[in-house]
Amino acid sequence: MNFTEMWDSSIHSDPEQVKRQKSAVSAKMTPISVDSALCSGSFKGSKSSIYSTTLNSCTCIDFTRRSLPCKHIYRLAHELHQFDLGGPVSSSSSAVLSKSEAMKIITSVLTEDEQKEFGYFCYICKNDNSGEKLINSSFADKLISYNLAQEVTDIPVLLSHLHIKEVRKFLPPGTKSPRLKKELIQIVAPLIHSSSDISFGDQKCLTLHSSIAHLGHALHREICRLYPQEDNDRNSWF
Ligand SMILES: [Zn+2]
Repeated sequence: MNFTEMWDSSIHSDPEQVKRQKSAVSAKMTPISVDSALCSGSFKGSKSSIYSTTLNSCTCIDFTRRSLPCKHIYRLAHELHQFDLGGPVSSSSSAVLSKSEAMKIITSVLTEDEQKEFGYFCYICKNDNSGEKLINSSFADKLISYNLAQEVTDIPVLLSHLHIKEVRKFLPPGTKSPRLKKELIQIVAPLIHSSSDISFGDQKCLTLHSSIAHLGHALHREICRLYPQEDNDRNSWF
């Protein structure tokens, strides 16, 4: 089914809908990915969230509230050549990779063991960079240099990876430390000016590079397929 069959064409001239079509043309609304076979796409949301969009659904708040095409649905329909936004549409040049493009880089620059470790890292980061992992510095630098990963700069997230004893070192002298790490982080985080003040020794705290952040699960599955694990448990049954 295509866009014109899904929605009564009269709704698109409603002033509220025209507003959303106008928002859809901006460069900020460039999709992270478009799957023309499935007629679906993903878009950057507020903070670091990612919206999944089809021609008749979207995970953003606007669609959840109104059940009418949001700016993401209009932009997706435009990208799939199913709707005319009635004017010039801007795209941001920041490269977003497809799964096959990302896999090409991964398999050509990483060794087999590195690919397996990267596959697990992808699994931790999920499809929206809601996860992060400490990685030894030499491998971390390699991932960063190939735009496969980037350093986490969110201070509370970084602190959560430190031992509570290390977090206490940021407390002003004479301050009593709360027993819970979570509470301690709330006190300490605003006192830290730069993420570079937090050190993990010979490790770095990484998340997927923004150009592939939407692919975490897909890359994990793809790498698992390349290197299936021998199922020792099943053999030991006999
Ligand atoms: Zn939406």
